[in-house]
Amino acid sequence: MTTTPTRTSGPAALLLGALLLAFAAGAALLPAAPAAGQSTFAVPDRDPNVNLRWDRYYSYDDVTEALEVLVAEYPEFLTKESIGQSWEGRDIWLVTINNPATGDHSEKAAFYSDANIHGNEIQGTEVTLYMIWFLMENYEHLDKVRELVDTRAFYLIPTMNPDAREVFFEQGGPTRSGTRPFDSDGDGRASEDPPQDLTGNKEILQMRKYTPGEGTHMVSPVDDRLMVVAPPGERGDYTLLGSEGTDLDGDGRRNEDGIGGYDMNRNFPGDWQPMHIQGGAHWYPFSHPETRAVGEALMSRPNIAALQSWHNAGGMILRGPGSQYYRGTGNYTQRDNRTYDYLGERGELMLPYYRYWTVWADLYTVYGGTLDWAHDALGVMGFTNELWSQAQLYQGHWDSNGPIPNEMQQLFFSDRLGLGAWFYDWEEFDHPDLGTVEIGGWSKWWGRTTVSFMIQEMLHRNAMFALFHADEMPLLEFDDTRVEQISGNTWRVTARIENRRAIPTRIEAAEINRVGDPDYFSISGNGLTVQAGGFTSGQLDDEINLVDGDPARIMVERGVLGHSDVTVTWIVSGNGTANLEYRSMKGGVHRTTVDLR
Ligand SMILES: [Zn+2]
Repeated sequence: MTTTPTRTSGPAALLLGALLLAFAAGAALLPAAPAAGQSTFAVPDRDPNVNLRWDRYYSYDDVTEALEVLVAEYPEFLTKESIGQSWEGRDIWLVTINNPATGDHSEKAAFYSDANIHGNEIQGTEVTLYMIWFLMENYEHLDKVRELVDTRAFYLIPTMNPDAREVFFEQGGPTRSGTRPFDSDGDGRASEDPPQDLTGNKEILQMRKYTPGEGTHMVSPVDDRLMVVAPPGERGDYTLLGSEGTDLDGDGRRNEDGIGGYDMNRNFPGDWQPMHIQGGAHWYPFSHPETRAVGEALMSRPNIAALQSWHNAGGMILRGPGSQYYRGTGNYTQRDNRTYDYLGERGELMLPYYRYWTVWADLYTVYGGTLDWAHDALGVMGFTNELWSQAQLYQGHWDSNGPIPNEMQQLFFSDRLGLGAWFYDWEEFDHPDLGTVEIGGWSKWWGRTTVSFMIQEMLHRNAMFALFHADEMPLLEFDDTRVEQISGNTWRVTARIENRRAIPTRIEAAEINRVGDPDYFSISGNGLTVQAGGFTSGQLDDEINLVDGDPARIMVERGVLGHSDVTVTWIVSGNGTANLEYRSMKGGVHRTTVDLR
C-alpha cells in the first residue's frame, strides 16, 4: 500500500511542484514558472480564476491537488468522488460536471472519459484536467460552453491507473500495466526482476557495452550517439543490453519479469478472451480493482451517451470493433457507422496528423477492450485517441532530401528545439553483473509524450474533439405539441420530440442487443384517462398506429435517430393539465405540459 506525501494546497503549491519537477527531471523540460498562469481562452488578456499550467505533466498528487483547487473554485458545477481504489490503494477520481440549476445530472445525456489506463500513456490525464478547466473558465464567456454545461453532464476520470502513473513519474520505464505483481516469465515468482533506475535520475534508459570487434551494433557514421546494427557478416564494437537493470533473481536474465505484466484494456467483458488468445487479458473480466471500479462507474450511470478513452501515441482516433470476427462482419452496423464516420472524419480535421481508424482493421486486434464493451454492452459510441504523433515534430516540413540525414530526424529536434532536453548522452556505469557499461538514450519525456512546449495545443485540440463529440450527443426538445378538441372533454394530443444532434438516443447495437431501456413517451394528469395512443402517421399526421399495452406510456424501441423526430398521438378524456414526458436513458428526461380545457 502507498502513503500519500503531505503537501500544501492551492495554486502556489502547484507552481512549486512544477519547479521541483523541472529540477528533478534533470532534462530541463520545464521553464521557470511564470508569475501568472495561462490566460483563459475567450478572454486571452485575462488571468483565469484557477492558474493551472498547460506546459507540464501532473503527478498523481498534483492531479488530486488540481482537482481540489478546481472544485473549490467552482463548487456549484463540480463534484469529485472516488469510485474505488487502485491496487496500491490510491483513489480513482471521477469528476462530475453538471449545472444543478438546469436539472439533475442523471437526467441529462452524459459524456464520459477515462485516461491513463496504460500507466505510461499519461497525457490524457492533462486533457481531462484541461477540459474541466476550460469549461469552467469559459462558462461566462462562450455561449457554446454555457450550452454544453447547462444541457449535458460530464463524468471524467483523469487517471484510472494512478499506481503506474506514479511509477512513470518516479522511475520511468515500461509501465503500461498496473503494479499488481504478476508472473510474466512463468517461473512461479511474480514481478521479481523489473528494470531498475540504476543511476537514480528517474529514468529507465538503455545499456550498451563496448565490446570491440565482438558486438552486434556499431556507432552510426552519422552521429556517435546513434547505434546501428552491424552489417551482415560483420561485427560491431558495441553490444546492446536492453533496458537499465540488473539480474535481480539470479536466473541469468535481466528485466524478464517487470512491474505488473498485464493489460487492463484487455480486461473488459466485451468479447473478452483468455490469456492464451489475448495476451494481458488477466484472469477474467474486471479482475482488477481499477477495471472493476471503472466498469461499475459506467454501469451505474446509464445516461452516459458518449465515451472517450485517452491513450498514446501515434496520432489516431480509433473506433471499434476490435476484432475481425465481430458479428461475422468485422464491423458495426451501417447506421451506427454513419454516426461514427460523421464524428471521426471531422475529428481528423480538428486534429492534424491524426487518422480516424478502426482498431482491428488499421491497428491490431483487441479482445476485451473498452470500446467494444461500451458499444455492445452499454450502447455507447466511443473513441480512443492515441495522443501525439511524432509527425507533429516538424509539422510536414521535414525534407527527406534536405540537409539533415534522415537518421537525425529525432536527435536534430532534441538538439535544436530542446537544446538536448530529451536525449541522455551515453555515460559509463559500473554494473554489478556486467562490469563497465554505458547508459544513455531517449528520455521518458520523448516519444510517447508530447514535448513540453507543444502540450497545450495537444490538450486543446483533443479536448475540443471531445466537446464536439459531447455536443453531438442526443439533444431532445419538444416541438410542435398540439391539442385538438374532438368532442366535449375528449382531446387529441399530438406531441413531437426532436433530436437536434447527430447521435441517436439509442444506437442500433443497443436495439439489436436489447441493451438498456428503450425510450418511453408518456402522458399523465389528474383526472385524465388515456383512451388510446400510438405513433402518428398518415400524410396529414391524422392517423395513429395504435400501440399494444398501456397507451399512456408508449415504448419507443428505436429511440430518436440523429437529426430526426418521433411523433405520437393520444386520445385523452378529462379536463386539466396533461404532463408529457419523453424519457430516454441516453437522451435525458424531458417534460412539458399542455392544457386540456
Ligand atoms: Zn494505450
